[in-house]
Amino acid sequence: MSAKQVVILGAGYGGLEAAKTLHRLLKKRSDVEITLIDQNPYHTLLTELHQVAGHRIEPKGVKVSIEHVLQYTKVKFVHDKIQKADLKNKKLISANHEYSFDYLILAAGSQPAYFGIPGMKEHAFTLWSLEDAQKIHDHIVHMFQLASKEQSPDKRKEMLTFVVGGGGFTGVEMMGELMEWTATLCREYNIPKEEVRLAVVEALPTICPILDEKLSKKVVNFFEKHGVEVYTNTPITEVHPEKVCMKTGDVIPTRTLIWTGGVEANEFAKELGLTLGKRNRIVVNEYLQTVEYPYVYAIGDIMEFKENGDVLPALVESALQSGKCAAQNIAAEILGTQKQKFKPELHGVMVSVGSFFAVAQIKGLPLLVGIWATIMKHLVNMHYLFGIGGFELIWDYIYDQFLYKA
Ligand code: NAD
Repeated sequence: MSAKQVVILGAGYGGLEAAKTLHRLLKKRSDVEITLIDQNPYHTLLTELHQVAGHRIEPKGVKVSIEHVLQYTKVKFVHDKIQKADLKNKKLISANHEYSFDYLILAAGSQPAYFGIPGMKEHAFTLWSLEDAQKIHDHIVHMFQLASKEQSPDKRKEMLTFVVGGGGFTGVEMMGELMEWTATLCREYNIPKEEVRLAVVEALPTICPILDEKLSKKVVNFFEKHGVEVYTNTPITEVHPEKVCMKTGDVIPTRTLIWTGGVEANEFAKELGLTLGKRNRIVVNEYLQTVEYPYVYAIGDIMEFKENGDVLPALVESALQSGKCAAQNIAAEILGTQKQKFKPELHGVMVSVGSFFAVAQIKGLPLLVGIWATIMKHLVNMHYLFGIGGFELIWDYIYDQFLYKA
C-alpha cells in the first residue's frame, strides 16, 4: 500500500505550524508522508517587514530557513511554485511537477487589495513581501538622493513627501519606521528636517479601529508629536505618479504612496473552484474543511472562518491556531480518532511605532504603551522563533534587532 500523502501549500505562519503539528502527531507512522511546498526557501516574518522597509534591520532579519525549521522532522520541504490545482483529482501542478495528495492544507496567505482605486496598483508601493519591503527601502534612499540634488522647490517637495495610505496596523508600523529613518536620512543628505512631509491617510474616522480607543489616540498623539500628519475620514480615491487624490478634494503631491489599505486572499484562491467569501477568502466549516472537498482544508489569511457571524481577522494568531487545528483534524482522520471543531482564542495585538514606542492590548493585562509594549512585542517574537527554530533563531533575532545596525 502506498503512503498517504499530506501536502501543505505555503510556509507562512499557518503552514509551518501545520507542518510541525502533523510531524508531532504522525512521526511514528511510516505510512504517512508530509510535504510542505513554498515558492521561497524561507519563511518570512511578515509582521516585521516594516523594519526592512524602514532600514531598521537587514532583509535577512525577516527570513527564516524552512530547512532549518524542519530539520529534525519527517516533513519534506519542496521549493516550488504551484500554478494550478486539480482538487477533484487531488493534484497540485507546478511548471515541472505534479504533486498528488490525499489531504491538502491550503495556506497560501493573502495579498494587497486595491479595491479598484484608479492608479493604485500601478503607482503605489505595497508592504506584503520581502521584495515589497526592499523596493520601498531602495526607493526612499533614491528620493533623498534625488532631492539632495534637486533645484526646483516643488519637485524637491514631492520627493520628500511620504504618504502611507491606510491607517491599519501595517500602515501605522510603516509610518513609525519612516518617522525615525527619514530623520537619519536628513542628516546623511544634509536636508533640513522641516522639508520632509509625512502623512497617514485613513478612510475611517479613526486609525487602527480594532484597537481600544485610548490606544488608537496614543498612536495619533505620538505621530502628531513627531510631525506626522494624520488624516481620518479621508478615503484615497485616485493615485498618480506624482500625487495622491482624496475624496475630500485634497491632493498631496508625492512620489511615494505606500498602500496599506487592506488585504484579500492570495489570487490562487480564485482558481480553485471553491466557495469564496469576502475578499476571495475560501469558506471553511467548523473543522476548517472547504465546502466542496472534505480532504482539502484552508487556514490562515486565505480562509474565511466565521464565528457567531464574525469573520476571524487575518492575524498571526489566527493563522497559527487554524494551522494547528487543521493538522490535528487530518491526523485524527488518519489515526481514526475524533476531529475537533476550531475554537480560536485570540490573545491580543501589539503594534510598534518605530523602535521604542508600541501599544499592546493583551487579554488579562492592562493596556500597554511605550517601551513596555515594545518589550512585549520583542518577547512575543522571540517566543515564536524559539518555538519554530530554537535558541539559534533567538540569537539571530537579538543580533539583527539590537547588535547589528543596518
Ligand atoms: P487593514 O485592513 O487592517 O487596514 C487597512 C486600513 O486601510 C483600514 O483602516 C481601512 O479603513 C483603510 N483604507 C481602506 N481603503 C482606504 C482608502 N481608499 N483610503 C484610505 N484608507 C483606506 O490592513 P493591514 O493593516 O494591512 O493589515 C492586514 C491584516 O494583517 C490585518 O488583519 C491586521 O490586523 C494584520 N496585521 C497585524 C499586525 C500586528 O499584529 N502587529 C501588523 C500588520 C498587519
